[in-house]
Amino acid sequence: SSTSNETICVGEWAGNVIGVFTSGGDAQGMNAAVRAIVRVGIFLGCKVYYIKEGYQGMVDGGDNIQLATWESTSSTIHMGGTLIGSARCLDFRERPGRLKAAKNLVELGITNLIAIGGDGSLTGANLFRQEWPGLLRELVDTNQITMDRLTTCSHLNIVGLVGSIDNDFCGTDMTIGVDSALHRIIESVDEIMTTAVSHKRAFVLEIMGRMCGYLPLVAGISSEATMVFIPEDPPEGDWRQGLCDHIKESSKTDARRTHIVLVAEGAIDRFGNIIKCSDVQKVLTERMNMDVRVTVLGHVQRGGRASAFDRIIGTRMGTEAVLALMDAGPETPACVIVLHGIDIVRTPLMKAVETTKLVGQKMSELNFDEVVNLRGRFTHLPSVSPLWTHVRQACNASCSLPMQKILRVAMIHNGQPACGMNAAARGFVGMCISNGYQPLFIYESWRGLIEDKVEAIEWSQTQYYTSAGGSKLGTSPETAEEVGVCQIASKLHEHNISALIIVGGFEAFKSAYDFLLHRDRYPELCIPINVIPATIANNVPGCKLSLGCDTAMNNICKACDALKMSANSLQKVVYVVETGGDNCGYLAMLSALASGADACFIMEEDFGIRDIFNVCKQLKHKLKFSGVKQGLVLRNENASTNLTTDFIYRVLNEEGKPNFSARKTVLGYTQTGHTASPYDRCQGIKAGCRATAWVLLTLSQCSQGGKVFTNSPSTITVTTQTSGQESYMSVENLALRTDFENHLPKDQWWLKLGKLLSILSWPLSNPEVE
Ligand code: ATP
Repeated sequence: SSTSNETICVGEWAGNVIGVFTSGGDAQGMNAAVRAIVRVGIFLGCKVYYIKEGYQGMVDGGDNIQLATWESTSSTIHMGGTLIGSARCLDFRERPGRLKAAKNLVELGITNLIAIGGDGSLTGANLFRQEWPGLLRELVDTNQITMDRLTTCSHLNIVGLVGSIDNDFCGTDMTIGVDSALHRIIESVDEIMTTAVSHKRAFVLEIMGRMCGYLPLVAGISSEATMVFIPEDPPEGDWRQGLCDHIKESSKTDARRTHIVLVAEGAIDRFGNIIKCSDVQKVLTERMNMDVRVTVLGHVQRGGRASAFDRIIGTRMGTEAVLALMDAGPETPACVIVLHGIDIVRTPLMKAVETTKLVGQKMSELNFDEVVNLRGRFTHLPSVSPLWTHVRQACNASCSLPMQKILRVAMIHNGQPACGMNAAARGFVGMCISNGYQPLFIYESWRGLIEDKVEAIEWSQTQYYTSAGGSKLGTSPETAEEVGVCQIASKLHEHNISALIIVGGFEAFKSAYDFLLHRDRYPELCIPINVIPATIANNVPGCKLSLGCDTAMNNICKACDALKMSANSLQKVVYVVETGGDNCGYLAMLSALASGADACFIMEEDFGIRDIFNVCKQLKHKLKFSGVKQGLVLRNENASTNLTTDFIYRVLNEEGKPNFSARKTVLGYTQTGHTASPYDRCQGIKAGCRATAWVLLTLSQCSQGGKVFTNSPSTITVTTQTSGQESYMSVENLALRTDFENHLPKDQWWLKLGKLLSILSWPLSNPEVE
């Protein structure tokens, strides 16, 4: 069942007892998952127990198993690591250990378990479930529990959540913790880059991931690394020579002052020999005469605050885990909660564990093709080294090609700036060049086109684009219609543009729609056109998560965390924070979930003065009875014309007396961010590459003898995601699902999360609330 989070209802499941534990390596976002499990469990009338120190706590029992309270999860959502402890436990690997664990659980009536850990922890959980009837029978036979206990606890339900920074679990796009680890890596690489460039030094960085190259691969894409060594896909032939050739080749097209090489902890060559950072350093020093330093990031990668993404998936997965337990019966196989695109789904636990284990087996057999196959989605990322090598070779080759024979494909930015726009531009340029097309940038949006600000781009011009925030091309919110479709059409023709990619927000979508409507009058518009959604508002029809949102959400969370910390004085304070997003409440709602806010006001959810009073009463009640010292209320900038942020702040400040005072913060342009988050960088590159691939394919289908013509509505599209896979939806169809007046899609998937926010925010029901 996909994202059933919206269908929570109370009553039916009261009396169930749930145990939650974290096991194996810790990961940021585990606390968010535990918080959601405890609060949703309590909301449903269940008892929830913490099982501390993983399986060790389960085996040892006693104080290790404690009843969880709503308050105990306060102010935990942002924290890294796991507050309930994790351990590796030898005892649990043996049956006598599991017998003790079963006795400890049965004594408290715990028959529902949520295991948060890696494949080892989930394998242990499944084995425990299979053995459960036999373990209970033995406990009865040895008079350790009564027959009554056996009857009431006859079966054990298990749900797994994958918490691991390695992203080494098959069947999920991302595990809890991996995004935060990427934040730590990228922060370090960005910082190393400044000193590396100053001294023209090369850096070799060791990145975590014993068996899995996800972290180094994505970090490599996000930081424009020269080369990445990962266990799943070792370089062909002699890697030492390959590395030197690659650097020599790239210096012909890149004016690089530095080279960054990322090496996974478990990197190997095609024969299974380990590739260490020191090996890479030796090659670069001795064969390339470079000044090379090695940095091992180590446990820094596990540390620090959880990213917004990890808080959200931790929260949503934790919620889904409780619902899966409540749906489970004796015959229901154990499941694990995974992420497909932006959907949270249940999948059979053992199948996923077995596939994950098979990866290890195939790796030891050096069967790399099979390993890449089994790993699934992430290996379909445009692997940096091969793609960019291809780009460089094509750059060199294209010098000898007559340029007029190359079809020209343009990119333009349209709308407000958003992080990821520049990464998309780099992906676009790379794909065009490697396929023999000439990439063009149109600067300063549609007006820039009219003023002929069009330039043919070389690969080296996009260096350091991936991380840069804002729009390097220059962008404007004016749509094509506002600037003049007729002039735009003639300029497209004049500059011999055969296909167009528009990166931006609702304005980009609207411009593409304007072109669709005007194709009959202007045949110059009969070219393939694609829109890559990039806006912190997340309001492009057909798109579930646009470029820029992740960076903005992280910036909002950072600001809210800081506000909450500043309130740790004697006085109780409620902060009212205004977020961006135009008319769309996505940013406010998701940031509220990620920052542990108490309430959120958005345009899509009608609200009035009475709702503000109710929030005020709830906050008074909460701050009085729960021991919590601060409250947080988020409001989207356009939530209401009259019920402004200032108005809400004044109502809370007045009505909150004497329990709390209120303060107000408008985040404004700080949300957009000056460097892109790892997610936006990687998604930007991917979107740029894939949209270009679609455009080039469409171009090849509608061009003849150098002439391009298509008037099919299917050739003006938006790059979107369906079940985690890119798809290209026609603007004509999407227009039917668009509220043009409010600049919103008619269906917004995230609205159902509003209910979850209210469940997670209120500890006790307040009889005064109307
Ligand atoms: P990570 O990905 O961080 O390594 P993990 O869950 O895979 O996490 P493991 O050390 O493999 O980490 O497992 C954690 C604990 O789970 C072990 O210490 C052990 O108690 C239990 N466990 C693992 N495998 C089994 C098994 N086959 N049978 C019983 N218990 C197991």
